[in-house]
Amino acid sequence: MTRYTAPGSAGAIVSYESRYDHWIGGEYVPPARGQYFENPSPVDGRPFTEVARGTAEDVERALDAAHGAAPGWARTSATDRAGVLNRIADRMEAHLEELAVAESWENGKPVRETLDADIPLAIDHFRYFAGALRAQEGTLSEIDDATVAYHFHEPLGVVAQIIPWNFPILMAAWKLAPALAAGNTVVIKPAEQTPASLHIWMSLVADLLPPGVVNIINGFGPEAGKPLASSPRVAKVAFTGETTTGRLIMQYASENLKPVTLELGGKSPNLFFDDVWAADDDFRDKALEGFTMFAFNQGEVCTCPSRALVQSGHYGDFMKAAVSRTEAIVPGNPLDTATMIGAQASDDQLRKVLSYLDIGRQEGAKVLTGGERVEYDGELAGGYYVQPTILEGHNRMRVFQEEIFGPVLAVTAFSDFDDAIKTANDTPYGLGAGVWTRDANTAYRAGRAIRAGRVWTNCYHAYPAHAAFGGYKQSGIGRENHRMMLDHYQQTKNLLVSYSPKRVGFF
Ligand code: NAD
Repeated sequence: MTRYTAPGSAGAIVSYESRYDHWIGGEYVPPARGQYFENPSPVDGRPFTEVARGTAEDVERALDAAHGAAPGWARTSATDRAGVLNRIADRMEAHLEELAVAESWENGKPVRETLDADIPLAIDHFRYFAGALRAQEGTLSEIDDATVAYHFHEPLGVVAQIIPWNFPILMAAWKLAPALAAGNTVVIKPAEQTPASLHIWMSLVADLLPPGVVNIINGFGPEAGKPLASSPRVAKVAFTGETTTGRLIMQYASENLKPVTLELGGKSPNLFFDDVWAADDDFRDKALEGFTMFAFNQGEVCTCPSRALVQSGHYGDFMKAAVSRTEAIVPGNPLDTATMIGAQASDDQLRKVLSYLDIGRQEGAKVLTGGERVEYDGELAGGYYVQPTILEGHNRMRVFQEEIFGPVLAVTAFSDFDDAIKTANDTPYGLGAGVWTRDANTAYRAGRAIRAGRVWTNCYHAYPAHAAFGGYKQSGIGRENHRMMLDHYQQTKNLLVSYSPKRVGFF
């Protein structure tokens, strides 16, 4: 077990600037209006740095820098751009612990997760898109014996990216790696709850990127995000966040006829068929771990398996084991590698989770475990902690229909396959789902019948760079990850060339 030292104390692995300006054109630029906001750590609720509060003027400056860098970056060869991405990945790997601790400190998530999952995945995204870019080929069609259609991939230009707070570096990597590989320059806005992690990342890789290729605008959604998404000077808006914000982003971008990709919220079902209980101990144990995945990252995951649907035949036995497995989740200091569940990312988020616990109780849901805020003394006093909670009820309750974005699981029973699929599909969302069964036929049919962009079968919360990810229904538009992302950040140039000496003959 390792306990990392909190930033600001002697021996800390991460040190923050006392203030972060915007990162524009390869240097720090103070906000045009001179305003800053405080950034508290969820670990103890105390501010540890302050951050520029961006406005439309700052966005314009960042767009100037991105436009200035765009032609040069677009002209670089695929080999050279891939080289930059690989060097970014190498640099991140060399500073893995620093990035992991920074993200845990700012977001509240356990460092065991940032060390083993979030940052390694972010690194792999840069490597994957470096490789995907080099493997990308144009096409040639022979129209007739003297006419050829060439298809080239060209970057879109300057793209806007707006990201949430739940995976500050991974969400940035999901967007930056394909956009940069495709030859675009970027203005990215991190969430106001977690801006510093991206600045730590930038401080590590700044010398690897030409000035202006990546620009960071800090600030709040309506003040900094809106002018960015509304700008006629961006070629695309890529957004991850709440469904309600996604609707606004689409409206802003539509004014200028700009394409959007939206990665939005979810209320993902995790289905446990009866045969799980009859399976061997290893599989049963794996499935029970899959059940507890609702608490992964404190439930602050768009694909959080926040509804468990358990078949009625073994419901009682399964739930008894599942509750005791949930009660074995180790809470505590996010900087301790033994900790499995840390702090909610912000005070607002903590309050939202607690309000849903009240809503669940008022609706008549039964609390099977958890249900309370956790208030520590000492170094964690003032932090935003809540118990992993299981609520038993039915799918029409608000706690089954609305995204809570906390470690709160809503559980209900289903009778047979059709009942399971009907309940699984009965929310406005369609992002993720889990299916647990040893029966290949059931697994396949359920996977195809569930209306979600990602269905995990006998696993959950795996996010490899080469598997397409995105939402059905109100969970989004477009996909992330996978080499198809290069197409989303490029346009196709067609050259239609005649090598014939003959005239057409019309005129
Ligand atoms: P949010 O929508 O509140 O904020 C996301 C980003 O949008 C932030 O940077 C914020 O400043 C900005 N923003 C807010 N209002 C804006 C506006 N009017 N104009 C422009 N920008 C604006 O979301 P959040 O609370 O930061 O993140 C949690 C949400 O993100 C959850 O709903 C979660 O499901 C979703 N999410 C989805 C995915 C996915 O891939 N589908 C991944 C992670 C998180």
